[in-house]
Amino acid sequence: METIYALSSASGRAGVAVLRVSGPRAAAALEALTGQGVPRPRMAALRRFIDPETKAPLDRGLAIFFPAPASFTGEDVVELHLHGGRAVVGAALDALARLPGLRAADPGAFTRRAFENGKLDLTEVEGLADLIDAETQAQRAQALRQMEGALGQLYEGWRARLVRLLAYAEAEIDFPDEEVPGDLIAKLGPEIGQLRSEIAAHLDDGRRGEILRGGVEVAIVGPPNVGKSSLLNRLAGREAAIVSDEAGTTRDVLEVRLDIGGVPVTLADTAGLREAAGAIEREGVRRALARAERADLRLVIAAPDAGDFALARDGDIRVLNKIDLGGNVPAGAIGVSAMTGAGLDALEAALTARVGSAYEASEHPVITRARHREGLAECAAALARAGEGGDADLIAEDLRLAARALGRITGRVDVEELLDVIFRDFCIGK
Ligand code: GDP
Repeated sequence: METIYALSSASGRAGVAVLRVSGPRAAAALEALTGQGVPRPRMAALRRFIDPETKAPLDRGLAIFFPAPASFTGEDVVELHLHGGRAVVGAALDALARLPGLRAADPGAFTRRAFENGKLDLTEVEGLADLIDAETQAQRAQALRQMEGALGQLYEGWRARLVRLLAYAEAEIDFPDEEVPGDLIAKLGPEIGQLRSEIAAHLDDGRRGEILRGGVEVAIVGPPNVGKSSLLNRLAGREAAIVSDEAGTTRDVLEVRLDIGGVPVTLADTAGLREAAGAIEREGVRRALARAERADLRLVIAAPDAGDFALARDGDIRVLNKIDLGGNVPAGAIGVSAMTGAGLDALEAALTARVGSAYEASEHPVITRARHREGLAECAAALARAGEGGDADLIAEDLRLAARALGRITGRVDVEELLDVIFRDFCIGK
């Protein structure tokens, strides 16, 4: 196994930079860079770092040695905490490159080794990636839970139960003895049914984990000139959309990212829905409709001088804009004025109630990727077949397929082809 190194903190000027080295030559690399023995395991030691050939000083900083297997990767790891100057980091990376048996790490290489050494399962690897990508607090909470193994433990627990059922079925095949056909499913049926209902409940989550991970899509819809762009600007607190009093100027889908109660929201202002004249505008309307269809939540806007709530469906938030012009706010709608700011608190509160509570990080481990959902659906289908009973051989085969589908989610079985996809999104030094 080669020894790899990389800058693990972000590149660029900073107070501190952390370099990580992992592999059999990690300790030797640290000795070469300090001219002395490695510090006590897991204890930070102040060291003067030197060029291994010229012995010229490079920097002063902290060195930490994590002997295998108690390290992030499961291999010998050393961390160098240097000053985060470009020249300092450049000199240290150059020195590491010149040491025998060391090479620069590929993106995700440290985490991949952690997975291969059994330090993290695949759901934990994905949780780690999500934690680094998390922009809001609810995303962070969800990612941390997954990185700490909540999802992996749930799936491994189910898999262990399946493996026990499989052992029963196989015993029946090997030692059929006096038992009559049908006994096997009488014995296993209740547990199969129980597993099926637990998996079904887990799948029936309204995609909340996936939505929180990707951001909640909120579409602002309504006819032209009701003030959709003006409202988006108000909500975004900055001039994100072009506001114009000429109908049909919002030709495309404009969006802003908001943090609503810790939940990431993509608020999209769509082109005014109306009979479009030009081709460009028609395209804008088409996109607006597609966007509104996909949205997790819609804000339907009307104004006293334009539009009504004909478009609104159950679950939409209805907003009557331009209340500064007078007119009555219909029951069930929120009256606002993008111009004066009146009613915006109520609108924000409604958004927070709908978005914040529906998508905040769940107490229970939740599905966060389509990959999980597919594996679970496959497992559930195999369990349904097994539950129908029949030949012990067939029951055993379906139980085996069900267990394998779960094992692929956590990375316990044949996932070689998945690994490149999962680790591709990691950056260098992770
Ligand atoms: P959109 O076509 O629905 O995106 O509407 P715009 O945001 O472009 O606004 C259309 C026109 O209505 C512009 O002239 C805005 O200045 C005006 N407008 C927007 N909100 C209000 C409001 O709350 N009160 C009043 N009086 N005018 C508004």
